[in-house]
Amino acid sequence: MNDELYDVIIVGGRIAGASLAARLGAAGLKVLILEKDMMPGRTVVSCPLLLSSGMQLLDEIGIDESLYAPDNTRFAGVALEMSEYFRTFVEIPDVHGRHFLYGIDRQILDEAIWRNLERFPSVTQLENFSVRELLVDEDGKVSGVTGMYKGGESKTFSAGAVIGADGRHSVVARKANASITEEVKQYNTAVYYAYWEGVAPYKAQDKEWIQIHSGCNGFSAVVIPASRGLTGVLAQCRHDYFNAPAGADEWYHSTIASFPRVAQRLKNAHQVTPLSGMKNVSNLFRQAAGNGWTLVGDAYHQKDSYDAQGIYDALLGAKILALQLIDWKEGKKDWGAAMQAYNREVYDALHPMFRSTLDRLKREMFTCPSPKLANGLLRWVLTNKKYRERFGLLATRNISPKNWASPGVMISAILNGAVADLRRKPNQAVWWTLPELKP
Ligand SMILES: Cc1cc2nc3c(=O)[nH]c(=O)nc-3n(C[C@H](O)[C@H](O)[C@H](O)COP(=O)(O)OP(=O)(O)OC[C@H]3O[C@@H](n4cnc5c(N)ncnc54)[C@H](O)[C@@H]3O)c2cc1C
Repeated sequence: MNDELYDVIIVGGRIAGASLAARLGAAGLKVLILEKDMMPGRTVVSCPLLLSSGMQLLDEIGIDESLYAPDNTRFAGVALEMSEYFRTFVEIPDVHGRHFLYGIDRQILDEAIWRNLERFPSVTQLENFSVRELLVDEDGKVSGVTGMYKGGESKTFSAGAVIGADGRHSVVARKANASITEEVKQYNTAVYYAYWEGVAPYKAQDKEWIQIHSGCNGFSAVVIPASRGLTGVLAQCRHDYFNAPAGADEWYHSTIASFPRVAQRLKNAHQVTPLSGMKNVSNLFRQAAGNGWTLVGDAYHQKDSYDAQGIYDALLGAKILALQLIDWKEGKKDWGAAMQAYNREVYDALHPMFRSTLDRLKREMFTCPSPKLANGLLRWVLTNKKYRERFGLLATRNISPKNWASPGVMISAILNGAVADLRRKPNQAVWWTLPELKP
């Protein structure tokens, strides 16, 4: 038995766990952070885009942009291709002093956040340590953890509270019997990706873009250049359309091949990492806290990667939790009051975007538009300047997800699009036409 008593033990040392430890360490709390992997080492399933909203939260904990984007390959935004109907560009608005986004290598980002903790004398880091059980005292309060080093030696640590920042398969959530408080299974998707070398860039309007290609048939692909010359190529489909009798690799390659606009960029490229992914990405919230324990990041809330909000949500959840834990530690609140406030604030901060992502999945992944609808209503809305600006503000969390596409915005987009179509001269060039496919 280890006789050292920590203020908190954090299980999981990536986005949620390590950013929480940095905030608690800056406030002088005595923190033990336990991570079952080595940093760098194995990485989690994630092929992320990082938006300016997430970068701003990384600034707050002292993580400089040069640490997670060493090649500085910035993108203006996203080129969204709707099958062969049309394309549209969503630019990242100039908020938080940045009007670009990055494709991120998670190994680099996670290592930067982990190494950052070395600055805080009150934070103890332990890698290669896997938590197996929670310690519970005679009052039923969680008071520590038991786990095992990679070599097999087991050890127990005690603390005032245990925080599960241990991702979607959270051991802390399971052992604490955290209930699922909300789950939507209808719009789950399957997502697989690999990194490639030699992928041709996507240039348009004098800028370089992240490519999202929607088949408008329940399948899509995303091409995300990251660091070190690697590009993430991701294939996604509705979970009920996922059919891979010959295995996920075959499914992945045939899905990519079904999108010529993506496949043509891979002609001179080769896959350099094994396939990674999930056949059923869940959308849920768990109970945020209980007696002596609490959850943060994916352990608390999971959603589809469609809107690229997971990292931001994990960083924001950690920030909200840190403030409550500091109040609790300083005696300003008891555990119950602090966790009640955390539960309320984190849910209010994350839930509207969760609903918005589900709505978009329903509209764009689970609805197959007819050619008439795609060339009309859908194009009028998605190419509308105001709509695109508001979507950029939504993605960077600068506008409420509750009313970003208000009836007023939608009606005006439809009217403007219809009138512009009526006024257009025959053969007049339009910017949303897709470039010709190279043979
Ligand atoms: C295919 C895909 C694409 C994505 N794309 C994006 C995107 O574009 N943008 C975006 O923002 N987000 C994206 N996400 C989501 C994002 O990756 C997650 O939201 C984010 O990783 C959550 O961080 P976390 O710290 O909560 O959990 P994780 O990153 O999962 O970290 C949990 C940590 O806990 C450790 N751990 C687990 N169990 C134990 C244990 N028993 N003992 C000790 N340690 C343990 C694990 O080793 C891990 O290091 C994507 C996710 C997927 C699956």
